[in-house]
Amino acid sequence: MTAFSHLPNPPVVRVGVIGVGLIGQDHIRRITQVLTGGAVVAVNDVDAARAGQVAAGLPGATVHATAADLIADTGVDAVLVASWGPAHEEQVLAAIAAGKPVFCEKPLAPSSEACLRIMDAELAAGRRLVQVGFMRRYDAGYLAMKAALEDGSIGVPLLMHCAHRNPQVPPYGFTTDMIISDSAVHEIDLVRWLFGEEIVAASVLVPRRSGQAPAGMQDPLILLLEMANGALVDDEVFLNAQYGYDVRGEVVGETGTVALADVSEVTVRAAGRYGGRIPVDWRDRFIRAYDAELQDWLTAVAAGASTGPSAWDGYAAAAVTDSALAALRTGQRTAVTMPERPDFYAKAD
Ligand code: NAP
Repeated sequence: MTAFSHLPNPPVVRVGVIGVGLIGQDHIRRITQVLTGGAVVAVNDVDAARAGQVAAGLPGATVHATAADLIADTGVDAVLVASWGPAHEEQVLAAIAAGKPVFCEKPLAPSSEACLRIMDAELAAGRRLVQVGFMRRYDAGYLAMKAALEDGSIGVPLLMHCAHRNPQVPPYGFTTDMIISDSAVHEIDLVRWLFGEEIVAASVLVPRRSGQAPAGMQDPLILLLEMANGALVDDEVFLNAQYGYDVRGEVVGETGTVALADVSEVTVRAAGRYGGRIPVDWRDRFIRAYDAELQDWLTAVAAGASTGPSAWDGYAAAAVTDSALAALRTGQRTAVTMPERPDFYAKAD
């Protein structure tokens, strides 16, 4: 329950945003200009100048010197964490301690141990307060794919082929491990949701290295993920593919397949050729999914509920990430070890 959910026409959810870099600013734009039921009333960033610049475009918004001050602000109903991953645990735990709903960008925290601490805090609080930013679950293509799996259109699913291609990463700072922890984590969550099954083991194959990758970075990688029901998922993650942002997926079943369609608005046929547009980046490709996930969050917060990807989902993704990173280091298939999902997190996806 929020302070105002008993009212017939609840006012907007007053959101405080921690971390106003790329995605923080994009979420502020959508809360302010696209979605209903939310207003950004406070911001914080370790880069105080950036926080000030962003707040200048938000009439009446407060700039807080620390994330803790923002969370404690009684004018903030709910917290959106878009800082860098290593800061997430402390900020999410503080929001839970304050009893405030918190939307946390992926990863929920950089290690499965840290995610467990967040789950423990939420369990102790006795109600769901955390939603994790796994926006692919809100993408129209993946939703249609899940519907096709559930209505039996392709029979029993056996395999899934995924590709996650990005034009390039920055020349410095993006490591080989981050191909798994920052990028493949999207497919890791997606296939758990799509199949309604946990991942039980991960292997990583290391193909020929692209000369377009920054020095020291092994790109691409191929992950093999084994689902609890025996289905096998291969995931090509290639972050310096140059030609565009291209996310693909095809599930192969006993009697058919279901694949994501190309997302170009039109196909042009001319001069003996045909073609379409490839998205330039993740914001372009998943813009509607980000809108839908954040609208879902605002609506749930206003209703005193929580419906999106949970702290358990954040934890499970981190546990698989840990195993995939171990597989990358050792070259061995690595089992995923997780406790049973607490009943607290049981829900129909
Ligand atoms: P970014 O552009 O670097 O923005 C992060 C911002 O947070 C920066 O302004 C950074 O300041 C600030 N910051 C860092 N530590 C902080 C702390 N302890 N307290 C307050 N502010 C802090 O990164 P981004 O691309 O927006 O990514 C942010 C998060 O969103 C990451 O967890 C990332 O994985 C996630 N993300 C998710 C998606 C998705 O598809 N769901 C897409 C992109 C990003 P400095 O620059 O001074 O460090």
